[in-house]
Amino acid sequence: MKANFHTHCNYCDGKEPILNYIEEADRLCYDQLGFSSHAPVPFANDFGIHETQIPEYVRTIDGYQSQFPHLRLFKGLECDFVPGMTQPFAHYRDTYHLDFLIGGVHLVRPENDDRLWFIDGSKYEIYDNGLRGLFGMDVRRAVTRFWEQSFEMIETQQFDIIAHCDKIKMHNRKRYFTEDEPWYRQLADHLIDLVRQKHLIVEINTRGIYKGRCPDFYPSDYILSQVARYHIPMIISTDAHKSEEVSLGYDDAVAKLKSFGISYLMYIKDQQWEEHAI
Ligand SMILES: [Zn+2]
Ligand SMILES: [Zn+2]
Repeated sequence: MKANFHTHCNYCDGKEPILNYIEEADRLCYDQLGFSSHAPVPFANDFGIHETQIPEYVRTIDGYQSQFPHLRLFKGLECDFVPGMTQPFAHYRDTYHLDFLIGGVHLVRPENDDRLWFIDGSKYEIYDNGLRGLFGMDVRRAVTRFWEQSFEMIETQQFDIIAHCDKIKMHNRKRYFTEDEPWYRQLADHLIDLVRQKHLIVEINTRGIYKGRCPDFYPSDYILSQVARYHIPMIISTDAHKSEEVSLGYDDAVAKLKSFGISYLMYIKDQQWEEHAI
């Protein structure tokens, strides 16, 4: 079984039409392919799908299913969680009859502040400017805020998969903090506790590596060791924004998971998640 549930097409900030990703996955003999456009956010942006477009997005994916009988197609969204700003994730699943939801934090909201720190994207300068402008270079407070926002997302939202759960490290590049500091480990440990309580799926996400933005997968080895220890369900995501990225890093991710003794991945069968050997 081979699957990818984390892809972005041109309904959001992905670069190509849906069909291109399907053809690529079919060519590579994938069994399952999920689309996960960035969900709408309540402010002007150039990365999220417009809510008015979701019905057409869903119809388009469904429309291709009969042409690709060996590749099961699934409709999802990657929902951003910003406290006090974003819609409940369940709204999208219920309104548009989606198959799955990915939850993730890309925009960190400081306490008692309406401004947002964008921690993703290609430019580390934006990360640095946010650290300075929104958090006065209090790195620990800023990084802690990312994790707390992730905790609140898990506690308050309904979704299936947690996206790139330690994305906060991407633009750090060992400049501001190291991932083995006790305070950072405690935050990661708490996330793992919550993931277990809510029976969430953790993805191993290859995008940071193939884009050259991060030397590691998301998540890093320490979190992977905890995922393995507690038998937390996993998927391999390439977070593709182009069709040529559908399988980038997949084989390396398999090798990484096997090195941690992880030998099962999750797939969708009859609208339920089910595990299969890698
Ligand atoms: Zn993401
Ligand atoms: Zn994504």
